[in-house]
Amino acid sequence: MNWHLLPLSEIILLLNTTPSGLNSIIASERLKEYGQNQIEDSKKKSIFKMILSQLSDFMILILIAAAIISGIVGDLTDTIIILAIIIINAVVGFIQEFRAEKAMEALKKMAANLARILREGKMMDVPASDLVPGDVVVLEAGNIIPADIRFFETYQIKVDESALTGESNNVEKNIEELSKGNYALGDQTNMGFKGTYITNGRALAYVVATGMQTELGHIAKMIQTSETDTPLQKRLAAFGKRLSVGILLICTVIFLLGWLRGEPILVMLITSISLAVAAIPEAMPALVTIALAFGAKRLVKSNALIRKLPAVETLGSVTYICSDKTGTLTLNKMTVQEVYEIKDQKFNSVFTGTSGLLNAMALNNDVSKDKDGLWLGDSTEVALVQYAYDKNLERTSLELNFPRIAELPFDSTRKCMTTLHKTEDGIVAITKGAVDVLLHKLVDNQKSLIPQLEHEVNNMAEKGYRVLGYAMKSFQFLPEKLIAAEIENSLTFIGFAGMIDPPREEAKQAVAECKQAGIIPVMITGDHKLTAKAIAKHLGIVTSDEDLIVTGTELSALTISQFEDIVEKVKVYARVNPEQKLEIISALQSKNQFVAMTGDGVNDAPALKNADIGIAMGINGTEVSKEASHMILLDDNFATIVIAVRHGRRIFDNILKFIKYTMTSNSGEIWAIFLAPFLSLPVPLMAVHILWINLVTDGLPGLALASEPSEANIMNRPPRDPKQNIFAGGMAGHILWVGFLMGLVTLGMQAWAIHQENTHWQTMAFTVLCFSQLGHVMAIRSDRESIFKIGVFTNKPLLGSLVLTVALQLMIIYTPFFNEIFKTQPLTLNELLVTLAVSSIVFWAVEIEKWIKNRKR
Ligand code: ADP
Ligand code: MG
Repeated sequence: MNWHLLPLSEIILLLNTTPSGLNSIIASERLKEYGQNQIEDSKKKSIFKMILSQLSDFMILILIAAAIISGIVGDLTDTIIILAIIIINAVVGFIQEFRAEKAMEALKKMAANLARILREGKMMDVPASDLVPGDVVVLEAGNIIPADIRFFETYQIKVDESALTGESNNVEKNIEELSKGNYALGDQTNMGFKGTYITNGRALAYVVATGMQTELGHIAKMIQTSETDTPLQKRLAAFGKRLSVGILLICTVIFLLGWLRGEPILVMLITSISLAVAAIPEAMPALVTIALAFGAKRLVKSNALIRKLPAVETLGSVTYICSDKTGTLTLNKMTVQEVYEIKDQKFNSVFTGTSGLLNAMALNNDVSKDKDGLWLGDSTEVALVQYAYDKNLERTSLELNFPRIAELPFDSTRKCMTTLHKTEDGIVAITKGAVDVLLHKLVDNQKSLIPQLEHEVNNMAEKGYRVLGYAMKSFQFLPEKLIAAEIENSLTFIGFAGMIDPPREEAKQAVAECKQAGIIPVMITGDHKLTAKAIAKHLGIVTSDEDLIVTGTELSALTISQFEDIVEKVKVYARVNPEQKLEIISALQSKNQFVAMTGDGVNDAPALKNADIGIAMGINGTEVSKEASHMILLDDNFATIVIAVRHGRRIFDNILKFIKYTMTSNSGEIWAIFLAPFLSLPVPLMAVHILWINLVTDGLPGLALASEPSEANIMNRPPRDPKQNIFAGGMAGHILWVGFLMGLVTLGMQAWAIHQENTHWQTMAFTVLCFSQLGHVMAIRSDRESIFKIGVFTNKPLLGSLVLTVALQLMIIYTPFFNEIFKTQPLTLNELLVTLAVSSIVFWAVEIEKWIKNRKR
């Protein structure tokens, strides 16, 4: 449909709607008819595919084949039990993947966009996915356009369509229909397209297409970006491939050795393949995803909403947190404390009898009152409006005499805004903004006042006040083109107001915690240098003369290399533009720093994308900034970032512990079976034993490690280098030596029992290997602290899984049914006690290792 060529009257008919919106009954009917306003994800796995992927592993297929062959030529129970274990394994894997997927979906839902619409004339916010053709959307700067739309009321609307057209210039939009012809998307000046965003102005528009019917939907397949793997997952996958080759080689050797010694060939084949299946850490990357997804789920409880999963993993590596001041480090609850008015200026006569400054405060703002009488709007403006209101000046009544006829909206780069009002004899412009910016734009006859004004402003700023100035200018006619550079100059200054925005007390603590943890907190603000300094001092961000405070102007005077030389010392950036955040990030990154950066505005989006962790504000952030971010602070609070970092460190620690545990267990199984022939011992375990250990002993306690509370020193150690190999720092050595010990202990048990002519030797060896691993998991719960210090009962899920594993193992040993299946024998009490004692060796060894390491520290 060529919506851009049609007059609005025809559009209303075609869409069967009105400028005040649909009614909700029709809307819900249309939702059924047109479906959700969503781009379908072609990559989404079906449940069937998820099950298949659990079974499609090549080694598993070979194992199934071998088991079936052995069933045909010999023992059918063996075949059945192997198949059963494989199926249970697949089911467990599937359930985990499914739950992780659900957790991710829930997170996505929470991060979903809302759209503001009119239904029967009433404004309401609905999930953007519920929009239908004919809906009327209300748009303002910072909004992502939620569907394809035709504008019917625009106010200085500009749209960034680069996501769709690749064109980086903002496109101005209006409501005029276009004359016949062919128009590229970028030239359809009365249309807005899903996925692009408003950078300026306000508008009303009709939804003309939703979901896959939109232009974005048409090209969705081309631009669908795959959810990238996390750095850890990539590394694990690459490492896993190399490891698999090694394990396959070892298993081949084991097979050949057994064969040469005259073991039945099929038994050896199945044993060695089972070993390969058990030892290859195939599921590791998937398990990391699960751990991260569940970590993300827990982070929501702490008000940090993860949008990109890798952020959970990399949070622990953050070295610099660059945070906005207003709202994040402060409460964003402003109140005017002092005003300063210039009495003798020509504009006093415009507002008869009352103060020009107060009138300006009441007129120049976009604050409105909601139905409960609460102010809605930017908190800076609310403070100013409240101040005027308390002095009996209010916009609605003032606008009867001074109607607003045009405006130049606020933007953080200009740091001011202007409203133009009709008066009895012409037009006045009221400009409000940062005082130092306004002082550069004064009319000549006021220039002599500047030193005195600067002095007054600095006095207020030094108290930590945010100072906003007001200036005016008159015109005979409304200028044809509203250009900021032309309107906002030769201004007459009329006064200023200083307001406090109290620092968040919890931010003070969080700043201290950051410093403990080797993270440097940095404040970024558009505010005055002195204001910023006062608050930075209060919060402990700036503590000595070494800590630099740099303004945006100073920053742009530096060359890149000059800036890089000092960037690590700068603790406060004042009067900066959002664009300069990019420079800050790249300078820090060039120094190998890992940067978290907050942002809330449209112009912050590039910085949020480029930061190692881009953090958007849940309450006061624009949609565009949220879309660009890796994480959203649901409470806009700086302290939440630090809590998230702490969680990130814990989650990563626990993933490492999990990897350590599983790999050590695998290494133990391999050592046991590999070493046996060299010690002239028969193969200690049967295939079903290996698969059982892999399923029960490896699986249950391993996952429960994710619930491990954080290490005591978690925020007292430097951030983790994201490039560091996870197997460095002793992990590889641990996996080898502890695995070797497990193998030896198992074989020792076996040798001793055989020497005693005990026919239960296999059950005993099997049980020792199983229980040794349980001892190991307890010992590695903490990297440094003894288990007796952190407390045996401090990880309930792990304890539960241990009890369960022991119960299952006893079930296998003591019930006739499972004796049959697993070829086990009930152990006598003495045998069981010996087994337990031998099993504890690994536990004590690892505890002693920690003790020795602690002594060295
Ligand atoms: P911050 O990072 O402190 O939130 P902003 O970029 O929002 O900074 O604002 C920069 C400066 O612009 C402020 O210090 C203030 O002087 C001025 N300013 C902020 N809000 C408004 C507004 N609504 N109208 C006019 N000027 C404003
Ligand atoms: Mg602001």
